[in-house]
Amino acid sequence: MHMKVLAALLFSIVIFIGCNQDRKWNNFQYPEIKYIAEDSTSEGALLFNELVPNTDSLFNDCILKVCKKLYKEQSEIPQKKIFEFHLRNTQGVAATGGNDSIIDMFLNTNYIAGFYQSHNKDKKETLTEIIGVLIHELTHAYQHSPIGAGGYVGGSEHFSCIEGMADATRLTTGYIEQKFRKPGGHWNDGYKTTGFFIGWMMEQNPDFLYQFNQSTLSIIPWSWEKATQQIMNKSVADLWIAYQKELNPEGKNPVAKFEVNTKDNITDRRVAFKDNSEGDPFEWEWTFEGGIPHESNQRNPKVIYKDPGTYSVTLKVRSAFGNATVDKKQFLVVGKNPSGVLFSDLDKEVISQYKDSPEGEGVANVFDNSSDSKYLTYNNSAWIDFRLKSNEKFKLNKYCIVSANDSPERDPKEIVIKGSNDGKKWEIIDMQREVNFKKRFETVDFDISGKKAYSKYKIEMKNHNGPILQVADILLFGDSQI
Ligand SMILES: [Zn+2]
Repeated sequence: MHMKVLAALLFSIVIFIGCNQDRKWNNFQYPEIKYIAEDSTSEGALLFNELVPNTDSLFNDCILKVCKKLYKEQSEIPQKKIFEFHLRNTQGVAATGGNDSIIDMFLNTNYIAGFYQSHNKDKKETLTEIIGVLIHELTHAYQHSPIGAGGYVGGSEHFSCIEGMADATRLTTGYIEQKFRKPGGHWNDGYKTTGFFIGWMMEQNPDFLYQFNQSTLSIIPWSWEKATQQIMNKSVADLWIAYQKELNPEGKNPVAKFEVNTKDNITDRRVAFKDNSEGDPFEWEWTFEGGIPHESNQRNPKVIYKDPGTYSVTLKVRSAFGNATVDKKQFLVVGKNPSGVLFSDLDKEVISQYKDSPEGEGVANVFDNSSDSKYLTYNNSAWIDFRLKSNEKFKLNKYCIVSANDSPERDPKEIVIKGSNDGKKWEIIDMQREVNFKKRFETVDFDISGKKAYSKYKIEMKNHNGPILQVADILLFGDSQI
């Protein structure tokens, strides 16, 4: 075929596809925009209003950009009726909430002013940042969420799926500069680290972002491994290694290192391990002599030591550039707990007032000695019974309550501990009216001098606020009374 004819034909095909692509989005259903200027006087607010004279048109433009990246057809897009945008003098950058049909977002005017000042008062760059933040946040409004991928906590699969997708949208719409792409980190770090990794996979498969978002619908429980296997036919580790080698062809072997919060005469039995390895490992293999669990693949595991003794710890790490091991012999010394034995180690039966917990968040988690799991009930107050299977009686010396991973309003605020030997007559042992946890996974201790010994204990709890009560762990310590 003559080149000119071919060129003309190709050109018309391109135009035809182009028109068709545009027409596909012609009847896009934009939500109704409600712009709420809670702040209209600060430097950041004035700047925002100057840089964005027409908020409706900018918001619509960003919404369409996001939806075109996440979806192929309008019918796939979750419909949003209202977009409530708050310009607010507050902390942080921005955040998005809402429900199925409402997007509720705020943008912090202090952040806008700070960005402007730290970028040589460059208005063009500041507007680009505002649009970038909007695109990131609007991705949260339109993306699907992974199911069964654990809680939304930094470094988790759930977190990196959500935050990586948001920055990938921002990247591929042109609102993150390529200069921010750096070697290292982990695909679960979220934000730019994950966003650029997704961007790199889109170089091989332009549909990756679309398929990644879709994968959360078909893969339950969702994981990076299953998603990359489904989309790229490769393990996430292999893809990560290839990506890291491209970013850093001179990469070196990792160095395995770790630290602990306590290691000499440990009496509270719990040790928090923190990985300090160099060279950005992405896999961790821990072995804990005498510990529960005995092995872990978490980056920073928490381990229980049931019996007094001296124990070794081994950590093996894997990075894109190799493996490394550190083996610490006789590293930890576990002493006898002065508060007595831990009741949860004993043969027991646990009964809850309500049986409404979501899967994996049942009452057994209260006495599993692990703060990584929690008990949740859709009630603002509830009791739990702890019954020793042998009829042996124990005197309670101390108890500890551990807060769960999220939502502080669900923490127990009021606690009543009761004891019984027949399961009918209950006597109050301790009462707390103002329990406050300063952070997540925090342990609060109550030393008591129980005078009587019981075979059954009842823990009554009431939360701080809202319809849900949750707790990660309860530890009861005491002595057998024979
Ligand atoms: Zn985000």
